[in-house]
Amino acid sequence: MNAQNQSFDLVIAGGRVIDPATSLDGIRDVAVSGGKVAKIAPEIEPGGARTVDATGCLVTPGLVDIHVHVYRGATFWGVDADEIGTKGGTTTMLDAGSTGSQNYRGFKEWIVDPACVRVLGLMNLSEIGLVSYKGELNDPAFADPTGGIAGIQEFPGTFIGCKVRLSGPLVGWGQQGRHHAQQAVTMAHDAGTFLMVHIGNSPIPMGELLSMLRPGDIVTHCYRAGTNNLFDEHDQPTAAARAARDRGVLFDIGHGSGSFQYERARSAVAAGFMADSISTDLHVTNINGPVHDMPTTMAKMLDLGVPLLEVIHRSTWEPAGVIGLQDQVGSLQVDREADIAVLRHQEREVVFTDSMGTEWTGHHELKAEHTIRAGEIL
Ligand SMILES: [Zn+2]
Repeated sequence: MNAQNQSFDLVIAGGRVIDPATSLDGIRDVAVSGGKVAKIAPEIEPGGARTVDATGCLVTPGLVDIHVHVYRGATFWGVDADEIGTKGGTTTMLDAGSTGSQNYRGFKEWIVDPACVRVLGLMNLSEIGLVSYKGELNDPAFADPTGGIAGIQEFPGTFIGCKVRLSGPLVGWGQQGRHHAQQAVTMAHDAGTFLMVHIGNSPIPMGELLSMLRPGDIVTHCYRAGTNNLFDEHDQPTAAARAARDRGVLFDIGHGSGSFQYERARSAVAAGFMADSISTDLHVTNINGPVHDMPTTMAKMLDLGVPLLEVIHRSTWEPAGVIGLQDQVGSLQVDREADIAVLRHQEREVVFTDSMGTEWTGHHELKAEHTIRAGEIL
């Protein structure tokens, strides 16, 4: 087949295509055929293909949100994966520990398999996962690293890491919390995966917790408020946080309903402590605000002065790398699955709200116009 008579299923025309992985930033058409990216060029003749007019929009790789909760109907937090994906331009999402050894098969069968978007999961150290909000490891008997590892080995394409929420009210204080932190680190090591640690009201000193983590492990909620944290009383990253980053520990936003403080994020960005990955922690108590969706969290980072290309990078290619999937997701390249976000960016006044209820007037609005997964418009 030569270039003249090549036929396509879909052409996304006239948008500003930004693909951080290949350093592409320019007005291009993107053609899709058989669910894959077929061609990216300044002008593509659509022929009989369906056309999406992306004039005035950004066309990016489908967004990669590495912190969501989508075990809907089986856990307190779960929202609908396809709903947040479609609304948010998110084609790949990582459920952060909704499941443990007692309920992961349902997650695979009822959530992952039927979803249009690509859903992956982290295995919770707690065998009950996040069924309830009341503390999955308050009773230490719920810790089941052995069962969790077996689940990861049963579905290695779905469960790509481990999770623990290391807040005292959730895992117990002092020695009990320390024990669960150690169990989680060992579980991830023995499973051959990374560990994502939610930092909250930590039961042990933050420096001690960070020192346990290995390169490739992820600290989520990195812009949370409060003491015993990644930042000192002058809002500067602590020596322990910098040392962890230097060792290869990764930092994720995980906005959520309690973990994104505007002033903290602003001073962190000013101090050069940019999160590796922008993520939402979308769940039932924040989907109608303050989080809403992935583009809104990205817009908040734009508003804090992070350049657009950097924001796109840390919402696509970088998180794909954080979770070890750059061979599959996070980039727009010929022959890759056509996971694409068409986003509208407007510079106008928007009222944002952080997790503490603080409102501020921002100047960037970002919304998903179209979400395309494997060539299908969702
Ligand atoms: Zn979460």
